Amino acid sequence: MFNLILFGPPGSGKGTQSEKIVEKYGLVHLSTGDLLRKERQMKTPLGIEAQQFIDKGQLVPDEVVIGMISSALDANAEARGFLFDGFPRTEAQAEALDKLLELKKSAISLVLFLEVNEEELISRLINRGKTSGRSDDADENIQRKRQDVYKKETLPVAAHYSKLKKVVNVDGMGTIDEIFGRLSSQIEKKIR
Ligand code: AMP
Repeated sequence: MFNLILFGPPGSGKGTQSEKIVEKYGLVHLSTGDLLRKERQMKTPLGIEAQQFIDKGQLVPDEVVIGMISSALDANAEARGFLFDGFPRTEAQAEALDKLLELKKSAISLVLFLEVNEEELISRLINRGKTSGRSDDADENIQRKRQDVYKKETLPVAAHYSKLKKVVNVDGMGTIDEIFGRLSSQIEKKIR
């Protein structure tokens, strides 16, 4: 299996690039943000609980997202690999993911870290807020909160995989196709 984590701050282009990567390489796309928004739309108890965290720019509790990922891995037993987008977002989630994959005799193959400067991130998120309909995109204070949460809670995930020599930094500035080209060339070095 080829298991890829697309890593980076909110607004770094993970969602956009993930769609192109899964199409090209036939991976199963697992975005915890998308899964949570689906639960919320369907007004499930999990969705309703998650909503209060999402709307404040906070992280949903680890056990909730780890449970969702565990079910999704089981539901896609035949997959040739997974692309994790927006997960893991804490060190505890990274450790849980490593264990879940180990149970399947697999592991993370590569972590691609999209680097985008903070000014560009906020400007992308403001633009996205005009059309995405996402409550957590529309408010600049919530966006700043999400960047803070990212630095405090999510950056340690990169350190976790750096220790395992799995992280490659990729310049996330430029056009969608330029960035996709850079990501693809890193994937192709590893996927063979
Ligand atoms: P995203 O679409 O990845 O930006 O996620 C939107 C929101 O969903 C985040 O700001 C969090 O509130 C929540 N969320 C998504 N993925 C996770 C995760 N792995 N752990 C905790 N909360 C998450």
